[in-house]
Amino acid sequence: MPELPEVEVTRRGVTPHLQAQTVTEVVLRRSGLRWPFPPNLADLLQGQIILSIGRRGKYLLLHFAHGTLLIHLGMSGHLRILPSLTPANKHDHVDIVVGAQLLRMHDPRRFGAVLWHAAIDGDVDTHPLLRGLGVEPLEGQFNAQLLYRQSRQRHAAIKQVLLAGDIVVGVGNIYASESLFKARINPKIAADRISLARYSLLVEAIQDTLAAAIEKGGSTLRDFVGVDGQTGYFQQSYFVYDRSGEPCRICGTTIRQIKQGQRSSFYCVNCQK
Ligand SMILES: [Zn+2]
Repeated sequence: MPELPEVEVTRRGVTPHLQAQTVTEVVLRRSGLRWPFPPNLADLLQGQIILSIGRRGKYLLLHFAHGTLLIHLGMSGHLRILPSLTPANKHDHVDIVVGAQLLRMHDPRRFGAVLWHAAIDGDVDTHPLLRGLGVEPLEGQFNAQLLYRQSRQRHAAIKQVLLAGDIVVGVGNIYASESLFKARINPKIAADRISLARYSLLVEAIQDTLAAAIEKGGSTLRDFVGVDGQTGYFQQSYFVYDRSGEPCRICGTTIRQIKQGQRSSFYCVNCQK
């Protein structure tokens, strides 16, 4: 599943090809993915200029003067920049053509989304899918004080509080497991039992982990262009994630796997208290 780093790397990869370009055609090969496409999408976008490409959580935002196109990659989606006459393959559901190139959305499992938010309806942050999101993890509002303050009434395990996304977005399963390891915090500890000092370590760990993944993905940026490219699922070496039964890279203790909610957590009982 694309996580925040993959979406951010996608944003950086497509931006030079889309920014300040005029949409010349919109091709929809089905009526929707997770939700129906806006029925008048071609009319909305044709002839309009893409002003900038932003991101909020895992939503890519194509900003136009009259509104914003929200794109979510779902479970299996990816975006590619291709020459505009490139034939579509199976699971290529959406093309946004900008002259000689196009942005193509490929999504085999069809949990992705393409939605429109008109400027007259207010800032895109007020969209129902965005307004409940927590702060961005790589921006200044995300700090230990915020995490500490907002977790005082939260007795759930810290891992699940991170995944809930209402305090901070984009800390998915991989990055939560890895960050808790680096901060030496047991994923089962109740969020309201963690001190401000330990939250400082956790914030630093989350930011380092996400930034490292984005940097790693940066080396794949050119792959967003061209038919042979493989887009951004970064194979990384993890401390604990998906290492059940293997020795901790710090102390050699066997890494444990547990279920929290519906998700697997991986941790070292010796390093994480
Ligand atoms: Zn260990």
